[in-house]
Amino acid sequence: MTRHTTHVEEKARRLPVIDSADIVVLGGGSAGLSAAVSAARLGADVLLIERYGFLGGVATAAMVTSFCGLYLDRTYDACRIVRGFADDLLSLIDAQGGLAPPRRVKPGAVSQAFDVTAYKFAADDLVDDAGVRLRLHSFGVAALLDPDDDSRIGHIVVESKSGRGAIAGKVFIDASGDGDLASVSGCTFEIGDEHGFMQYPTTMFRMRNVEDVLTAGIRKTIGSKVADAIASGEYDLPRKYVSVSPQPFSTEWRANATQVRGERDEAIDGTDVLQLSRAETEGRRQVREFHRFLKNRVDGFANSSILDTAPQIGIRETRRILGERELDAEHVAEGKTCHDAIGLGCWPFETHRNGTVDWRAVGGRGYYDIPLGMMVPAKGPINLLVAGRCASASPEALASVRVMGSCMVMGQAAGTLAALAVQETSTFLEIETPLLRQTLENNGVCFLPDSGLLVTSTQA
Ligand SMILES: Cc1cc2nc3c(=O)[nH]c(=O)nc-3n(C[C@H](O)[C@H](O)[C@H](O)COP(=O)(O)OP(=O)(O)OC[C@H]3O[C@@H](n4cnc5c(N)ncnc54)[C@H](O)[C@@H]3O)c2cc1C
Repeated sequence: MTRHTTHVEEKARRLPVIDSADIVVLGGGSAGLSAAVSAARLGADVLLIERYGFLGGVATAAMVTSFCGLYLDRTYDACRIVRGFADDLLSLIDAQGGLAPPRRVKPGAVSQAFDVTAYKFAADDLVDDAGVRLRLHSFGVAALLDPDDDSRIGHIVVESKSGRGAIAGKVFIDASGDGDLASVSGCTFEIGDEHGFMQYPTTMFRMRNVEDVLTAGIRKTIGSKVADAIASGEYDLPRKYVSVSPQPFSTEWRANATQVRGERDEAIDGTDVLQLSRAETEGRRQVREFHRFLKNRVDGFANSSILDTAPQIGIRETRRILGERELDAEHVAEGKTCHDAIGLGCWPFETHRNGTVDWRAVGGRGYYDIPLGMMVPAKGPINLLVAGRCASASPEALASVRVMGSCMVMGQAAGTLAALAVQETSTFLEIETPLLRQTLENNGVCFLPDSGLLVTSTQA
């Protein structure tokens, strides 16, 4: 007979301590990779925990394949605004022929496409060269406070094919994108805005055998072709604003064109596994439909086929941990400075709404300081930093600072601060801001746009 119960008891069990490190980083995306490599280069013993079998996060697992937020668009040229760790990642990708020239997506927005496999290889080399220890296929699931000092995390608990185990650390960096570690460590967080709005997710895909020569001007014409297709009733397309763009290797293109919604048309919640499950199959259904549209209605795609769909749906927004300082819309919109700057951001507000995408430029100088305070949880363990998409930003500001360029800036600063804290046996707040800034500058971080590194961005 089946017994219907809502809960069952799990017996407490002793966990093996399977590893330890000075600095434990959860998540190997733009922020976590940058944090781990930057900390290890300063001499720290670093362990990087990642649930997949490869690094890169959204860049590789969601096949986003284009860096945003690295270049300040100055109309006739563009100059680099994010360097440091990003320089090394870009040059390793470039050495494999996997980096396209920078390209103006729209005024104020210059991006740079990369090859997804070249990124994975570059990430492997970066962690290897820096001496970062890797635990792939490992899911961070819980935090255990230090029994001698409950203001600190003592261990992170991971699950893997080898079972469940605890990993000790002096300092922890949550770069999971979703704030998985911070949310189980007593930190406060928000999901969505006051109306529950979150940005909509997208399943990315790549195509092969696109006839590049036939695609000239596509960025200007694709919008009206999508609108015509929707109006014809022959295609079920979810978004009016789409991006279909070439990859570094000829005849290979990528599409950012799907949008997965819940039953009430809301964005699906990337922290809900049932919604995620449904979203994966729905995203792939939309991929097939959008490719059918491209083949039939857009020049250059008639002989193309789908090369691959992303291993996972791309989630733009989930938990935002509340920090000592929340990056707000005014700071971004007015291009403000701050006393605890760790680098620069410049990507416009890019908000994925139901059926479309809203854009709004960064005002003032056209770029803004990214504050350290957004990575320091306001409440929770004192030895935890939060870097990347889950750091403290209002929903509006997140629409700008969530891009990879800014996530690498946060990662490099988090790794650097963590390494300094371990070296000095200090808390984060005891590390003087000038020391952090000087160390970041010594390692290539820009605090002003680098006009020595000008590029001419190609018009789409
Ligand atoms: C569809 C889409 C298109 C986008 N387009 C662009 C673009 O063109 N250019 C751009 O610059 N930005 C783009 N963005 C934004 C940007 O890619 C992300 O916001 C950014 O990469 C986030 O970096 P992150 O390091 O904070 O998180 P992620 O890249 O998500 O990295 C988090 C890592 O942590 C791992 N992880 C998560 N939870 C756990 C756990 N519990 N245990 C172990 N590992 C865990 C994940 O597997 C992942 O590797 C896009 C985002 C989406 C979703």
